[in-house]
Amino acid sequence: MIYYPEKYRIADKRMQPFIDPDEIWSYINGVKSDKQRVREVIKSSLDKKRLSLEETAVLINATDPDLVEEIKEGARTLKEKVYGERIVLFAPLYVGDLCTNNCQYCGFRASNKGVKRITLSEKQLIAETTALIDQGHKRLILVYGEHPKYSAEFIAETVGIVYGVKHNNGEIRRVNINAAPFDIPGFRVIKDSGIGTFQIFQETYHEPTYMKVHLGGIKRNYQWRLTALDRAQEAGIDDVGIGALFGLYDWRFEVMGLVRHVNHFEAVYNVGPHTISFPRIQNALSLDIEKDHLVKDDEFVRLVSILRLAVPYTGMILTAREPAHIRDQILRFGVSQIDGGTNLELGGYSKGKQDQQDLTKGQFQINDNRSLSEIMDELIKSGYIPSFCTACYRLGRTGEHFMEFSVPGFIKRYCTPNALLTLAEYLEDYAADDTKKAGYKLIDEKIKDLQQEQKVARLQEKIEKIKTGNRDLYF
Ligand code: SAM
Ligand code: SF4
Repeated sequence: MIYYPEKYRIADKRMQPFIDPDEIWSYINGVKSDKQRVREVIKSSLDKKRLSLEETAVLINATDPDLVEEIKEGARTLKEKVYGERIVLFAPLYVGDLCTNNCQYCGFRASNKGVKRITLSEKQLIAETTALIDQGHKRLILVYGEHPKYSAEFIAETVGIVYGVKHNNGEIRRVNINAAPFDIPGFRVIKDSGIGTFQIFQETYHEPTYMKVHLGGIKRNYQWRLTALDRAQEAGIDDVGIGALFGLYDWRFEVMGLVRHVNHFEAVYNVGPHTISFPRIQNALSLDIEKDHLVKDDEFVRLVSILRLAVPYTGMILTAREPAHIRDQILRFGVSQIDGGTNLELGGYSKGKQDQQDLTKGQFQINDNRSLSEIMDELIKSGYIPSFCTACYRLGRTGEHFMEFSVPGFIKRYCTPNALLTLAEYLEDYAADDTKKAGYKLIDEKIKDLQQEQKVARLQEKIEKIKTGNRDLYF
C-alpha cells in the first residue's frame, strides 16, 4: 500500500472516477457496424457533431477494408473542410529528467540507473531556448520528469526564463507544459506564469494495465492522474491536453477512454480538451513492457482517423516519435500540430543536430530526425501552410482550435492570414533561398484564395512591413 499525502487525495465530488471499463467494453462488444450506420456516423461528424461512445464504437468495429477507407476519407474531408491546410509547428524542450516514478516504458524511470540525470541550469535553459529561437521556433512545450525538485514554483520560474529570452528577431511566444499532475494551488502557480496548454497523458485508461506498468511513485495512483486536468480546470487552466500512450493496452479501449474523457470535460466544465495526443510506444533504455498490444501502422492510421471524426473540434498532435513517412501520411487525416527539429537530449539543441540518438540521454527513441528547415521546406512544397501563430492565446482568445471549428469564417479571417504572417517572418529570418522562394509563392497563392478584399489589402500591407523588418504582426 502506497502512502499518499493528504494533498494528493481527491477532494472534490466533480473529480470522481468517470471511466467505467464495463461500459466501454459493452459498446465495443455490443455495437454493430454496417455500411449504413458507419456512413450515418461519418456524416454526423462532418456536420461537426462530437460523436457519442456508441457512435465511436461503430467506427471502431468497422473492419471491412472498404469501410475503413470511408472512415479515413471522412477524416480527410473533415480536416480539409474545417481546418484547411495549416499545420502548427512546435518543439519539445526537456528541462529535467529527474524522476521518482517507475513507468516501465520510460527511459527516465527511477530504476533506470544508466540514464545521465540533468536539470538544466538557468544558463543552459537560456542556451537551449536561444538555439530553438534560432531555428525559427515560436512555440515550445517544456517537459519535466516527476520529482520534488520540479515543484510548481520551479516550473513557473522556468516558463518565465523561456519567455524572457530574445535573440535577433526571435522569441518564444507560447509555452505549453507536459509535466506531472499538481494539486489545485500548484496548477494556479503555473497558470499565473502565462502558460498555454497543460498536457497530461493518462497513458492507459485501463486501470489493471495502468497498475502493471506504473510500478512506483506518485504516478502509480491512477485516480490522481485521471483527475489531474480537472484540478487544472479548477485552477483556471482551461487549455488542457489529453493523451494515451498507444501500445500498453487494446487501442480500441484507449480510443473509447479518450472520448469518455472528452465527454467528462464537456459535461463538467462545458469545454472539451484543447488537444489530443496519441503517442505510440517507441524504444527506450531498458524498455520493459509486454508486446501484446503494440499498435501496427495500419491500426494507427485507423485510430487517428477515428479520433479525428469522434472529436472534430480538438487539435491533434503528432510527434517525431513517428517516422517521416507515417507523419506525412497521417497529416492528411486531421493532425493540426507537429514538432520539428526535435532533440530529446537534455541540453541537445545547443549542441546542434545529432545523427545518432543515445538512449541514455533521452526519454525514448525518436524516428523523425528532420530539422525544422527540412520540415518547413517539405510542408511548403506539399501545399501545407506551416504556422507559428500564437495570436489567439496572446489576445485572450482561448481555445483556438474550438474557435476555428465553431465560429463561421474564423479561419479565413484570422487563422490563415496569421499563419501566412508567421510564415513570412520565418522566410525572412530563417529560411534558405530555395524555401524562401517557394514560401512566398505559396503566400501569394493563398492570398488569392482568401477573396476578402479589405482583409487581403491589410494582410499584404502587413507582409510588406515584415519584409522591411517589422515582426509579430497579427489579426
Ligand atoms: N513525466 C511527466 C509525466 O509522465 O506525465 C511528463 C511526461 S513524459 C516526459 C511525456 C510522455 O512521453 C509520457 O506521458 C508518455 O506518454 C510518453 N512516453 C514515455 N515513454 C515513452 C516511450 N517509450 N515511447 C513513446 N512515448 C513515451
Ligand atoms: Fe517519469 Fe514521466 Fe518517464 Fe514516468 S513517463 S518515468 S513519470 S518521466
